[in-house]
Amino acid sequence: MSWREFHQLLPKAGTSVLQNIQAQAEQDWDNYGVYPSSLHVLEEAWLYIIKEAAGKKLVITGGAGLLDAFQGEFDHQLDKTKVCPLSAENAVILRKKFPFTAPIPLGQFPTITIGLGDRLGLASPGHLKLLKQYPQVRPVLAQQSIRELNLTGRNYQQVLDAATWAVFQEDYRAGFGADGDHLKTDTEVQMALDYGFTMITLDCSEQIDNAVPDLSSSELSARYRSLPADIRQHYEQTYLNQEFTAGGLMIHFGEPELMQTVLIYHRAIEHAVRIGREVIADRRVDFELSIDETATPTTPQAHFLVAHEIKQAGVMINSLAPRFCGEFQKGIDYRGDLAAFERDFKQHEAIATTFDYKLSVHSGSDKFKVFPIIGRFAAGKYHLKTAGTNWLEALRAVAGSEPQLFREIFAFALQHLSEAKQYYHISADPARVPALDTLKDRELLDLLSRDDARQILHITYGSILQALDRQGASLFKERLFSFLAEHEEQYYQNLIRHIGKHLAELGIQPEN
Ligand SMILES: [Zn+2]
Repeated sequence: MSWREFHQLLPKAGTSVLQNIQAQAEQDWDNYGVYPSSLHVLEEAWLYIIKEAAGKKLVITGGAGLLDAFQGEFDHQLDKTKVCPLSAENAVILRKKFPFTAPIPLGQFPTITIGLGDRLGLASPGHLKLLKQYPQVRPVLAQQSIRELNLTGRNYQQVLDAATWAVFQEDYRAGFGADGDHLKTDTEVQMALDYGFTMITLDCSEQIDNAVPDLSSSELSARYRSLPADIRQHYEQTYLNQEFTAGGLMIHFGEPELMQTVLIYHRAIEHAVRIGREVIADRRVDFELSIDETATPTTPQAHFLVAHEIKQAGVMINSLAPRFCGEFQKGIDYRGDLAAFERDFKQHEAIATTFDYKLSVHSGSDKFKVFPIIGRFAAGKYHLKTAGTNWLEALRAVAGSEPQLFREIFAFALQHLSEAKQYYHISADPARVPALDTLKDRELLDLLSRDDARQILHITYGSILQALDRQGASLFKERLFSFLAEHEEQYYQNLIRHIGKHLAELGIQPEN
């Protein structure tokens, strides 16, 4: 494989031949190892990404300004040509020189957005190949929670840079978002903003009081009366025995409902308002409020009251994630009553529309049963978050092509399930997974269609990626990354099929 031969195809300057050269890179991929869409011309320089045994590199040739700007080594065979690592420093320059490789707030587009968390930092090119066919859907590529950062041993810099290089590799110009997902504190929000993230998902679960629904009526009033008088007065004056309409929906607050809603949510509201005013302030970012990771489903009244309070406080949100009825467990389809979900979803949608933001559906991977409902009633404007199943698609590639590695990973996952269960709630039962040594290699792929096995692999990624052998070397991470580098196209195809199925069930048609 030699990109230096490819280099000879580049004329001195001019973009008129760009497409021809890209077509040639595509045709002769095996020979050149140049990512066709990564070929760009700027300031009289050619830039493109190559694949080498040691990893991907950025090659720059020509224009002295760009040769100067990027850090790398001059090639000893070719004139005016630098080979640069895909480093953090170079990503900063790339975002300056090619603004489409920097994340933007997507709230400016009243459209469908999809969160495509990429725990390995390898999936985004596959996602972008798919989304080029769907200009009506915009991606949030960099999307990680603090929990995911800790479990994968990554930081926001790496998450953002992986997205930047992917966007350049695929020449995706429609704009993408970067979501600091499930952030809980001022410090976490500030950190994501400092790294240039353009979406903040504020997780208010620690301010939501889940014990309230179980209180007796006397306990409820006692707890309510212990709130400061000005807080009670504010809520009573605004809501008690008042009627509100949201779309076709009537919202009414009787005394017990109001006491309950205020007790469950008032601290979450204060938290969101304070972060919105003081930390996010007047920055142009997509602010999402997440009240989904709680024990109790969000009632329409609660949703209305939260939205109304936030708006009265002058804080703008771009999306809100309620906890819908039924179960949105990681990595598997929806569990619950579909008719009840439809009623629930329509009510939340009416409230979101009234307050002019999008509904956000979290743990959205694989919720195929409810996608038609979401697609039908959300009027082309919602946010769907997926993350973990992009990791499962990587394991699907492993199961298909390197069964021995998959067996080792799966056995390890089973042993470390209880660690992962501290972080994720799942209903998987390892006893329902067939013993691995009874399965033939070709049957391993079937495991990835079984709920129990999917969930076990879905949540143990942290232990798998961070596992060390006795000498302190990584047990799986390096083998996994070199496998995926070698089977890159297979991984992309898996992702295209998998996320493509999500879009199809949502009723979204390709437009390109
Ligand atoms: Zn969530």
